[in-house]
Amino acid sequence: MSWHVLGAGALGSLWAARLAGAGATVRIILRSAQRLADYQRAGGLTLTADDLSRLYAIPAELPDASEPIQRLLVACKAYDAEGAIAQVASRLSSGCEILLLQNGLGSQQAIAERWPQARCIFVSSTEGAYREDDFHVVFAGRGQNWLGDPNGGSAPVWLDELNRAGIPQTWSSDILARLWRKLALNCAINPLTVLHDCRNGELLQHREQLSGLCEELVELLEAGGQPAAASDLQGEVLRVIEATAANYSSMYQDVRLGRRTEIAYLLGHACRSADSLGLALPRLHELHRHLREHLSQRGLPTD
Ligand code: NAP
Repeated sequence: MSWHVLGAGALGSLWAARLAGAGATVRIILRSAQRLADYQRAGGLTLTADDLSRLYAIPAELPDASEPIQRLLVACKAYDAEGAIAQVASRLSSGCEILLLQNGLGSQQAIAERWPQARCIFVSSTEGAYREDDFHVVFAGRGQNWLGDPNGGSAPVWLDELNRAGIPQTWSSDILARLWRKLALNCAINPLTVLHDCRNGELLQHREQLSGLCEELVELLEAGGQPAAASDLQGEVLRVIEATAANYSSMYQDVRLGRRTEIAYLLGHACRSADSLGLALPRLHELHRHLREHLSQRGLPTD
């Protein structure tokens, strides 16, 4: 069975190259004839890992190709994912599986609701990759991938294919708790690095602000039925800040490079969830307002 990979950016290329390298049948779906021509000129995807670069001549196609899709790996940004799937929706076989690699929450639920005939598998990844150039990706950080189906059900048989491809994976029976925990860590750390214009470690000078945000995030997680994601949140926030003290957060880097952030699926999702639970969380809302103002002043989208 083929793996169709939608989105040949950093994470999509990292998955596609490893799967293809292990002999799986992979097809990349690119958004336009122009991107397909660019890809063909590049001769395929290049992955650099451990200072070694290798070209993978993986076949690529446009969304309107004819082959039915049985297993779709969606590796677009959260704000592009639903629209990108809509372009291939007529090709989705009944009972197909859609793996969603997006950070944050909100995009996955919208997709699962819109295509109920598909089994949506949510993925939380701590692997790191970045685009060195068009269709050239660098594997920057080893990590783990947790996969799970929020509606339950058994682990898919193809998890073994991921093992053979060297893609670390763990099947999670509570993938929403994992995604909420990651979202909460992001909400406590990333917006503050943007607003204080600093590396993660410098946030230790703003402990009171961190602590106030963690208090509200814990309240949100507990009220939203995610007590596991709330457990010792503040302790983990501090541990992450210390372990990554010299790093600039992903949101900081996006803003600095003038790229759209995924704010609507991170802090925005937290604020919307608080509203729908009837919780008053003033610090989170103030942070959201302040961050959107900051983005807007830089001409960046605020959603
Ligand atoms: P990225 O490098 O920007 O890649 C996104 C890709 O999606 C781009 O190649 C883009 O195409 C493609 N795309 C957008 N709309 C499309 C469409 N309609 N049809 C086909 N392709 C389309 O982003 P990323 O860093 O891989 O991140 C993807 C997701 O993974 C994000 O939610 C991110 O937060 C999450 N994540 C990333 C990492 C990481 O280390 N990179 C780690 C954990 C989680 P173009 O090339 O044509 O623009």
